[in-house]
Amino acid sequence: MEKNLKVKIFEQYFLNDTTPTYAKIAERLKLDINAVSVQINELMSKQKEEIKRIKNVKQLYRNKKKEKSQDFEFNSFKEFYGWYEGTYREQKGKCYYCETSEEDVAKLVEDRSKRSPNRGRHLEVERKDSTLGKDKYNPNNCVLCCYICNNAKSDIFSPEEFKLIQEAIKETIMSIKPSS
Ligand SMILES: [Zn+2]
Repeated sequence: MEKNLKVKIFEQYFLNDTTPTYAKIAERLKLDINAVSVQINELMSKQKEEIKRIKNVKQLYRNKKKEKSQDFEFNSFKEFYGWYEGTYREQKGKCYYCETSEEDVAKLVEDRSKRSPNRGRHLEVERKDSTLGKDKYNPNNCVLCCYICNNAKSDIFSPEEFKLIQEAIKETIMSIKPSS
């Protein structure tokens, strides 16, 4: 199968808001359903890590979308995933504010917190400006930050006002960072 078609099948199956059936994908791409099935099985075995990551990001997308409803301005999962991956790369997998790596925050939370098994493992979506009227979740107003900074910043501080606090968080985390 040509590469272009493989990419299309990947996008149809993994990056849609609602996962279409194999039959639907076959119909959309004018392919045989068996070819679609073979290709999806191959993707599942060869791109395990990426697919696992997509599942995590999709969960995040669904939760945010439900929780924030009209404040959530990403139009589709595909758009959100593109934004997430680009931002993650840009920030090198670190918190936008304290610059601690996702891995180090996860370890710290695992070592110390008994309270939030569902938070702290991954960087979270954060609105830079949370003042009324500009408080939307969209690609221009969002960054990825750690659980600790997200809690501390809440919807009270502007990025400017948060600077002193982020420095303090950064220094504190560095001083207790477990040696790996
Ligand atoms: Zn942080």
